[in-house]
Formats: sequence, structure tokens, C-alpha cells
Amino acid sequence: MTMHVVSTIDVVRQAVREARAKKLTVGLVPTMGALHAGHVSLIEAARHETGYVVVSIFVNPTQFGPQEDLERYPRPLENDLENCGKHGVDLVFVPEPATMYPEGYRTYVEVEELQDVLEGAARPGHFRGVATVVLKLFNIVQPDVAYFGQKDAQQARIIRQLVDDLNVPVRLRVCPIVREPDGLAMSSRNQHLDPTQREHAPALFRGLEEVRKRVEKGERDARVLREVLAARIAATPGAVLDYAAVVDANTLKPISKLTGEVLVALAVKFGGTRLIDNLILTV
Ligand code: AMP
Repeated sequence: MTMHVVSTIDVVRQAVREARAKKLTVGLVPTMGALHAGHVSLIEAARHETGYVVVSIFVNPTQFGPQEDLERYPRPLENDLENCGKHGVDLVFVPEPATMYPEGYRTYVEVEELQDVLEGAARPGHFRGVATVVLKLFNIVQPDVAYFGQKDAQQARIIRQLVDDLNVPVRLRVCPIVREPDGLAMSSRNQHLDPTQREHAPALFRGLEEVRKRVEKGERDARVLREVLAARIAATPGAVLDYAAVVDANTLKPISKLTGEVLVALAVKFGGTRLIDNLILTV
């Protein structure tokens, strides 16, 4: 099987039409490239569960704030294509920004409330850009199943809301967080960490593990758990806590006592590099 690398919408549509004519189901893995084992886990799930696997690689400008790292976001396209080829991807969609947002572009998707908290509070407009580009990708590819990572838990929650609210005919699959051997969640941004920062970066995961243990031992006070995270990050050289949150996994609203599905999430800065991680608990 040859892998197709395509930059225009018409050609994607034609390729997907041909796959459907062969009665293949279509899986979509949206990414911003700089692919690592986390992305590969989504590709493997898609390969396993669908007949025609599409990966999109697009560093979406509308989800970056003016002070954010759009320019320095890594774009190792050659490696990414090789990686896709190795993992049996059928089509890679690599659009130019002007293909996704041509002159005169006007339409944006907002998922009220869910977009404004946690990452959305720290990164105003971020989820408006995410929801918009994901709906565009859904409309361009029209996949049967789309694959997302639990690494971006709020993003997964927002896309679920978008799909439900706008009746988008796609099934969503959210795959577990893939980690380095020392627990650091894989991220394209990890490569910006200097060796000392990299050494201390597993603090996010260790804090979350400590929270998990406390909850297993019966702790139900969200404030205590937030303090566990804050203390762990405060004790980590070079780390600055952006937020540590314990929220209802459905509403993303802060809770005081743990019950039901709970999302524990944090964001930490190491110099100019911002890392996120999370844990979902069923209490
Ligand atoms: P990105 O390229 O960062 O936009 O990520 C593309 C997709 O890969 C998103 O659905 C992410 O949640 C997912 N992803 C990124 N890192 C990981 C990871 N460490 N484990 C699982 N999924 C991930």
C-alpha cells in the first residue's frame, strides 16, 4: 500500500470517496505533527479499528495566542511522514494555513463554558481555534471514527460536546496518555526542555500519582489534593505552577468533595515551556 501525502481538500475528498467505494471505514487522527509515541498510539488504534487511516498534520494558527509558541512549534515533516508510513497510514493531509483559512475566512465554533476554564482560562481563544479546526477536519475527511488523546482531557471533553451539540456524524475514541519511562507525558513540547528541566519534568506525573494514592486511601477533599499538587511543584527546581485543578470530569467545574468522574489536571511552566498532565478518577 502506498501512502498518499495530500495538501488540498479536493484530493482528500476524492481519496476518501475511493476508500468508501471499497467499503472501508475511515479513521481520522488529527495532529499538529512532531509525531511521538502518543500520536502513534492513536494511529495504531485507528489502524486496528478502521480500514482507511487518515492523519492530519496542521499547526493550527487559530489555537495559538499572540504570545504563544506558533513560530517555534516543531515541524519535522520528513520524520513525521516516515513515521506515518511505518505505521500503515493511508493518507496524510498536510494543508497550508491558506487552505484552511483562506482570505475572507469568517466562521468560528465556540463551546460555551467548557472553553473558558483550565487551559481556556490560561489560553484565551485556544479552544475556539481547536473546535473550529476539528470541525473543519471532520467536514473535510468525514471520518467514521476520530481519535484523540486523554493527554488533552479538556480538548476531548470539548470535542465530545461539539459533536453532540452539532450532530456531527462521527464516533470519538479517546486513547490513554502515553508516557516516557520516567512518567513524563509525551509531548512535542518536551524537546524544548533543557537537560535539567527534563530531569525535573516528571514532577507533574509524580504529583498526580500522589493524588491517586491519597484518593485510594480515602481522601475526598479536593482542596487537600490541589495542595498535594501545588506542594510537589513548589518543591521542584525550575517549575512554576500555572494551575492545579480538581474538577467534575463532565462539567469541568471545581468540586469540593470528590464524587463520580473527577478530572485532576495541572499545567506547569519550566522556563518558556508549558507542560500539562492529568488524571481521571472514578470515585
Ligand atoms: P497534538 O499534535 O499535540 O495536537 O496532539 C494530537 C493528538 O495526540 C491529540 O488528540 C493529543 O491529545 C494526542 N496526544 C498528544 N500527546 C499524547 C500522549 N502523550 N498520549 C496520548 N495522546 C497524546
